[in-house]
Amino acid sequence: MTPRSHIPFFPPDLFEADRTVLLDLLLELGLAPEQRFVLGEHTRRFERLLQESLGAADVVACGSGTSALDLALSAVDVGPGDEVVVPAFGCAPLAASVVHLGATPVFADVDPYTMVADPAEVERRITGRTKAVMPAHVFSVMADMPRFTDLARRHGVRLIEDSAVAQGAVLDGTPAGLWGEAGVFSFVQVKSFGMPGEGGVVVTRDAGIGQRVRMLRNHGQDGSRRFLHHVIGRNSRFDEIQAAFQTHRFSGLPRRLARRAAVAEYYTERFAPLAERGVRPPPAGKDGRCYYVYTVLADRRQALERHLRERGIDCHAYYPLPLPLQPAFAAFAAPGDRWPHAESAGRRALSLPVHPQLTDADVEYIADAVCAFAGD
Ligand SMILES: *Cc1c(COP(=O)(O)O)cnc(C)c1O
Repeated sequence: MTPRSHIPFFPPDLFEADRTVLLDLLLELGLAPEQRFVLGEHTRRFERLLQESLGAADVVACGSGTSALDLALSAVDVGPGDEVVVPAFGCAPLAASVVHLGATPVFADVDPYTMVADPAEVERRITGRTKAVMPAHVFSVMADMPRFTDLARRHGVRLIEDSAVAQGAVLDGTPAGLWGEAGVFSFVQVKSFGMPGEGGVVVTRDAGIGQRVRMLRNHGQDGSRRFLHHVIGRNSRFDEIQAAFQTHRFSGLPRRLARRAAVAEYYTERFAPLAERGVRPPPAGKDGRCYYVYTVLADRRQALERHLRERGIDCHAYYPLPLPLQPAFAAFAAPGDRWPHAESAGRRALSLPVHPQLTDADVEYIADAVCAFAGD
């Protein structure tokens, strides 16, 4: 088998196999007498499916993963005057969600190897004003949730888990999303359980938080009575056609996740000897692993990127600039504070395609190209 001449980072044919189902649903719901397009029976059924399969107390579908973070923080009463400790290396919603609530993001450095928030660094930044800590799972590795659980308990702060990329991952027997008081998943197209549109969920093991999130996503109403607003909410509703489509696609998720894991495992095996030669794969093993993207740390990142592109392999350098160094969030960075590991990760991290549409030949071709670069 020969590889494709060009290997995209995210596959363009994500929903090809389910295209007829999608078009059928569009017609079915579009022509249904109810004309119900958000927060209807399909959303409820999708929420129940996720809740039961996860063993959560509640799963609440909403407008996006970003919105899910807003809702989760809001549900544990984060507000003006509060601080929330977030990783310095990560995506903008981690900090923006905190700012949206009038609270202050406090940036903690990450582990230099796994690139997830370092519990010791998070703990060092806890003050009397800290309301919550919000670690995130990054690329292929879940944050050290046992230590964050312990830390949150000792300091009496809330624990929100940005598990947007980790749906289906399990650490020490507990699924991603259920370690925190609330967690989130994102269904934006390219995520592991992506869909053709925007959406996300808040997942929680606390029924009270679930109830609050339900109200908050729909203008503070409790679902039984319209135009009675218990709290100040927002509009973060979920689409019925997408809910029906995701319900259909859910049975294939374990197979797609298993394919991602197998590809990642193969890479890690092939790249293990490269660690001494400037290309370091993520830690081997299965516990606490998720495979949204597969990320190596390359001392000569730009050269590796060029080498792969010349061979038709798309790759991504995520988060080149740590959050506190971004113009948008610099005002929240304490003067003189530094995040050396986040900066180093921003210079060295390079993500390779790991999606389930890759053929064995593609995967081998990518691995060969990386090994050739490192002189193996
Ligand atoms: C994708 C992502 C989000 C945001 O999800 P959207 O659905 O794109 O709003 C939040 N946190 C992390 C870690 C993500 O990867």
